Amino acid sequence: MAYEKPERFPCPFCECNTGRIPSAIVFESEHAISFMAVNRRSTGAVLVTPKRHVEQISDLTPAESLDVMEILQKTAKSVYSAYGPDAIHSFCNAGIRAGQSVCHMHFQIQTRFNSKEYSFAPSIDIPWIAVDELRQNAERIKSAAPDLVEYQPKFTTPDAKMEEFTSPMTRLKEDGVLISESEHFYAVTAEYSRVKGAIVILPKRQVSNYLELSVEESNDLMLHVRKLARATEKAYDPIGLSVWWETGTEADQFFDHLVVEITPYFEDIEYKYQPRSELTQTPLEHRQSWTQHIIKHLEP
Ligand SMILES: [Zn+2]
Repeated sequence: MAYEKPERFPCPFCECNTGRIPSAIVFESEHAISFMAVNRRSTGAVLVTPKRHVEQISDLTPAESLDVMEILQKTAKSVYSAYGPDAIHSFCNAGIRAGQSVCHMHFQIQTRFNSKEYSFAPSIDIPWIAVDELRQNAERIKSAAPDLVEYQPKFTTPDAKMEEFTSPMTRLKEDGVLISESEHFYAVTAEYSRVKGAIVILPKRQVSNYLELSVEESNDLMLHVRKLARATEKAYDPIGLSVWWETGTEADQFFDHLVVEITPYFEDIEYKYQPRSELTQTPLEHRQSWTQHIIKHLEP
């Protein structure tokens, strides 16, 4: 494994999770926990971690994966109820190049508001918030009812590009870009790739965002993500890996369909974030060859 690791000892998340340093916990289950980010980019920013110290998604046990996903979805729904953001960006980074600043696997739930500028500055440059204020935020999220979320994103998806997400499975198979399939999702080599080996995971039914997934679907998604992250590590040995999805146009969601992206990072390829709308189409032969390469490394 060649992720570039951020070195911080002792692990600040283990210190938070065990109460050795003050934190503002939102939700907790057997294997996972969510707590307010101390250096937050926007109001209602929350981190979700497994309780056990693991470095990346591929290290999670299946039971931990499911718990992390359950707490992630519950927390995100409650953040919507509590703060009504215009969008949410959910992501998990491994490796310094991908933006990981604490070497304990974590998903971030970052809120976006039309009225407020969002900062992409490194976490180290984001101001810390007093723990008392974070605990008030955590209480507000906990007391919000997750079931009451009514989220209506607005989209301007060009019909031509929507085809990527409504393609029948037979076409993906014929094109040779289908990597794997689970009960509720399929994973394909991205038609608009940011980098070689980029994967997108798509729900088989029309789902606008991950808050709409049933518990069964979200569990299926997380196990699929974990399997693909492991295969990507074996296939490409990247120095970083991001798993992410957007909910809402304010966070650059471009299609009215949930799109989960898995993006590897490489030493010799400079990575520059571009909204999906600005990406160019990847030649089919590249997609086919990347697909074949990753399939060879999939675990049964
Ligand atoms: Zn830790």
